[in-house]
Amino acid sequence: MTDKHLTDDQLLLETDYTSYASSCRDPYITPTNDLVECRRQSGHDDTHATRSGLRAIRWAVPEPHAA
Ligand SMILES: [Zn+2]
Repeated sequence: MTDKHLTDDQLLLETDYTSYASSCRDPYITPTNDLVECRRQSGHDDTHATRSGLRAIRWAVPEPHAA
């Protein structure tokens, strides 16, 4: 899986095709104080993201997984 610099459309497609049970579900408070959860595939690389209407919301992973 390569997901560097995904466009909003690509992110939204991934979130739409990922079931809730198999999604990442990282919690995030948006600038407008909404609590959302990452709906990308669990174990994804790069930024967390979820759908907000017609747009994608992205947020950074706090720190890379250290071995
Ligand atoms: Zn995530």
